[in-house]
Amino acid sequence: MLEQDLSYLQPDKLGPWGTYLQQIDRVVPYLGKLSRWIETLKRPKRSMIVDVPVELDDGTIAHFEGYRVQHNTSRGPGKGGVRFHQEVTLSEVMALAAWMSIKNAAVNLPYGGAKGGVRVNPHTLSNKEIERIARRYTSEIKMVIGPNSDIPAPDVNANEQVMAWMMDTYSMHQGRTVMGVVTGKPVALGGSLGRKEATGRGVFIASSEAARRKGLDIAAGARVAVQGFGNVGSVAARLFNEAGAKVIAIQDHTGTLYQPTGIDIIQLLTHAARHGAIAGFEGVQTLNSEEFWELETDLLIPAALEGQISEKNAPRIRTKIIVEGANGPTTPAADDILNEHGILVIPDVIANAGGVTVSYFEWVQDFSSFFWTETEINHRLERIMCDAFAAVWQVAQEHRVSVRTAAYIVACTRILMAREMRGLYP
Ligand code: GLU
Repeated sequence: MLEQDLSYLQPDKLGPWGTYLQQIDRVVPYLGKLSRWIETLKRPKRSMIVDVPVELDDGTIAHFEGYRVQHNTSRGPGKGGVRFHQEVTLSEVMALAAWMSIKNAAVNLPYGGAKGGVRVNPHTLSNKEIERIARRYTSEIKMVIGPNSDIPAPDVNANEQVMAWMMDTYSMHQGRTVMGVVTGKPVALGGSLGRKEATGRGVFIASSEAARRKGLDIAAGARVAVQGFGNVGSVAARLFNEAGAKVIAIQDHTGTLYQPTGIDIIQLLTHAARHGAIAGFEGVQTLNSEEFWELETDLLIPAALEGQISEKNAPRIRTKIIVEGANGPTTPAADDILNEHGILVIPDVIANAGGVTVSYFEWVQDFSSFFWTETEINHRLERIMCDAFAAVWQVAQEHRVSVRTAAYIVACTRILMAREMRGLYP
C-alpha cells in the first residue's frame, strides 16, 4: 500500500523533509535578489514511485515500493545514492535528494541532486533476493537515470555489488555496457580506487579542518564518539584511531560500546565483519543508547540515520565539535541549542561530501576510460574538501552564521544563479 508520510506536519516529529524546508527558510535572508527563485528549492523537480515485485526464494511474490527523486538539475545531472531500508518513504527520499543538491553545489561538483530508495529490510533477505530487487528497481527507473541525466550510487545498505547489478541491468536494456550510469561500483567494473573509503575519509578530513580551527589536536588523544559503524562510521573511526585520537564510544543499532582508554578499532572491524554489527564485542563497557549522547568528548560523529540529534538530546550533548557523517542527523531546533552551547557543527553537506566527490572522480574516469592511482584520488579529494571547507568557513565568519547556514548560502547561491541564467522554459 502507498503510505504517505505526514510526520513532518507534526511539530514534535519534523521529519527529514520538514528539517530541510526549515534549513532553506533560514538561508533566504542571505540570498538577495536570488530569493525570488527560492520555491525552486522547496519542491523536487521530478519524483518517481515504482512497484518492485519479486519472487522470493520460497516461491512467494513480494512487492516493495521504490523511489527515485531528482530534486534539482540546474547545475548538471542528478546525482545521489540509493538506500535499502524498511523505513524509507517518499518524503525522506525527497529530503535526501535535496541535501544532495545542496552538497554537490557546496563542494562545487557539476551535479544537481537526486536520491533513490527501496522500502525493504535487506537483512531479512538472501543475496539472490536482493539481486532481484536491485535489478527490478533499476529497470523500473531506467527511463529517468543515465550517465548524463541521473547517476545513482550506494547509500545505506547498498554496496558495490548492488551497484554492479544496477550497472548490468541498465546496460542490458541499452544493449551495451554503460559504466558511467552508477558510481560506487567494484574497481574491476569501472569503479574508482578509494571510493569505498571516501565518505569516511572525507569525514576525517572535515574533522581535522574543524579541529585545527578550534585549536584542538586530534593526534594528542582527542576523544571521539561515533554513531554508526557502517561504511562511513567504521572508516572514520579507523582513520581517527590511526591519527592518534581515542575512539571512546561507538553506537550502532545493536548497542553502545564504551572504553575511556579507546576502543581497539581493528579488532572491532574484524568482529563487525564476522557478526554484521558491534554487539557482543568483548573487553569494553556497554551503555544504554541515551548515555551515548551524554559522554564528554572532543568530537562527536553521527554517522547513521537522520534526526538523531533533536531538542530532546541536544541539551545533554557535551562535545566540542559535531561532524555530520550521516545525512540530516540534526534537527533545526537542535542546531540552535548546539550553537547556543558553543558546539561547532560541521554540516552533512560538507562533512560527508567525500563520497560523492570520489563518485565524481569515478564518473570522469569512466568517461575517459583512464584510471587514476589511489594516491592521486586521495590527494584530489583532500584538496576539494579543504577548499570547500575554507570557502564555507569564510562565509560563516563574514555573516556571523553557523557553518550550516554558510554552506547553504554558498550552495543555494550557486544553484539559483544557474537557475536564473538558464531562465524558465518555455
Ligand atoms: N550516498 C552518498 C551521499 O549521501 C554518496 C552519493 C553519491 O556518491 O552519489 O552523499
